[in-house]
Amino acid sequence: MRQLPFFCRGEVVKGFGRGSKELGVPTANFSEQVVESFPSDICTGIYYGWACVGNGDVHKMVLSIGWNPFYKNTKKSVETHIIHTFKEDFYGEILSIAIIGYIRPEKNFDSLEALIAAIQDDIEEAKRQLDLPEHLKIKEDNFFHLPGGKI
Ligand code: ADP
Ligand code: MG
Repeated sequence: MRQLPFFCRGEVVKGFGRGSKELGVPTANFSEQVVESFPSDICTGIYYGWACVGNGDVHKMVLSIGWNPFYKNTKKSVETHIIHTFKEDFYGEILSIAIIGYIRPEKNFDSLEALIAAIQDDIEEAKRQLDLPEHLKIKEDNFFHLPGGKI
């Protein structure tokens, strides 16, 4: 995908309460303004990359770009699941992400079990990909590490 890697940061807002957290995969949602700043031709689906909350450490993440039901699926939504256990929620904080690669298109699943299994596969794929040297080096990018680059 020619737009990748794509770097972006913005505030974490309340999502649609789809129960991501209950499935064990909370997804930090970006506001509509941040989503609008994405390339309009970016494909929906599941991606992997790096993420950091506020001035915190950089962690592996999986990201879903999907259709936003609030806008009758005419606008996209962007949700990041950070592969790390946080002590507390971080609504209102600034999330910085680097989107690096594409895993798969959006899919409908026949059961909750199938959905959860697919998400676990996505997480494993992201972990493997992000250990590759060319992907690890983006973790060290100035975007995450310059004093002025953090908020
Ligand atoms: P919402 O519908 O409001 O997005 P979710 O069930 O998707 O609710 O939970 C998302 C929230 O969970 C995030 O905004 C963040 O504050 C918190 N959170 C805790 N741990 C994580 C994590 N590892 N990755 C993403 N968000 C997390
Ligand atoms: Mg969410």
